[in-house]
Amino acid sequence: MRPLTYSRARDVGDAIALAAASPASAFLAGGTNEVDLIRAGVSRSGHLVDINDLPLTAVEDRPGGGLRIGALARMTDVARAPIVVRRFPAISRALLLGASEQLRNMATMGGNLCQRTRCPYLRDGVSPCNKREPGTGCSALDGLNRGHAILGTSERCIATHPSDVAVALVAFDAVIRTAGPGGERAIAADDFFLLPGDTPEVEHPLAHGELIVGIDVPGEPLGIGSVYLKFRDRQSYEFALVSVAAAVEAEDGIVTGVRLALGGVGTKPWRARRAEAALVGGPADEAAFRRAAALELDAAVPRRYNAFKVELARRAVVRGLTHSLRGARP
Ligand code: SF4
Repeated sequence: MRPLTYSRARDVGDAIALAAASPASAFLAGGTNEVDLIRAGVSRSGHLVDINDLPLTAVEDRPGGGLRIGALARMTDVARAPIVVRRFPAISRALLLGASEQLRNMATMGGNLCQRTRCPYLRDGVSPCNKREPGTGCSALDGLNRGHAILGTSERCIATHPSDVAVALVAFDAVIRTAGPGGERAIAADDFFLLPGDTPEVEHPLAHGELIVGIDVPGEPLGIGSVYLKFRDRQSYEFALVSVAAAVEAEDGIVTGVRLALGGVGTKPWRARRAEAALVGGPADEAAFRRAAALELDAAVPRRYNAFKVELARRAVVRGLTHSLRGARP
C-alpha cells in the first residue's frame, strides 16, 4: 500500500500553494478519474488537495451570448442549465451522453478536461505502455485496438481521448482559464489537448500546481442549432466509437458557417478544420457533406481492428451536419 496524504483548500490561492508544496500532489474534485487511477495503481499521486470548497460552480451568462462555466460545476448541472441548453445544445447533449448518471452528478467540468487519455493497457498495470511507463512501448499498436484512435496518433500512443463535452467545447472555440504559481492563463481548448507525439505521458500544458478555474465559451449564433451525436457499442455508460459535434447554417443553399469536431477517433478532441474549410461557400447538401467528411478522414491511420471507424466517422459527419441543417434533434 502506498501512503496518501490529504489537505483541503480554502480558496484558489491556498489550493495552488498546497499543490505546489508537494511534487506528488494532485487536485481532487469529483474524484471520478483520479481516485480510480490511484486505485488501479496508475496514478502516482501521493498528496491530494481537495478543491471542493472553492467557489467555482457557477454557470454564467457572458456578453454576446457566451457562457462562463466554473471548473467545479458538475456535469449534470451544466447539462441542465437553461442557458447551456438554449445556446449550445451540443454541449448539453455531449454532457448527458457522457459516463453514467452517478458519475455525471460527481464529476466536474475541470476534472472532465483533465481526465487521462487512456486505454485498457494503461489500466492493467503490466502491459508495456508509454503513458504509464515512458519508453516501454505501446501494447495497442499490434494488440486489441478496436476502440483506439485513427487521427493524431503516433508510434508511441494511439489512445483515444475519452471526453464527450471536450469535443463540443473544441468545436466552439472554448477557452480554458487557469491559475497557477506562474499566474493566470487563458488557453484555447484546441491547444489544451496535446497530441501524443514522442511524449504521450504529457497530455496538457498545465504546470504543476496550475488549476483550471473556468471555461469560457464565446457567443456564437451557430451554437443554437448545434447537435452532438454519439455512436457506441451500448446506449449508456460507454465511450464513443465515433461522436460528432456539428453546427451548420446556409443561405440560398450555400454554407455560410460551420463548426465541426469529432470524438472517439482522435488522440485529442478533433476539430475537423479541413472539412470546415471545404464546406464554407459550397453547397449545403449531402454530397458536399460526404466530400468534406472524406477529406477530413484522409488523414486517418487505421489499425488492424479499428479500420471500421473511418467509414463510421464519415457517416457520422454527414448525419451530424444534416441534423443541424434541418434543425432536427437526434
Ligand atoms: Fe499506453 Fe497509449 Fe499504447 Fe494505450 S495506446 S498502451 S495508453 S501508449
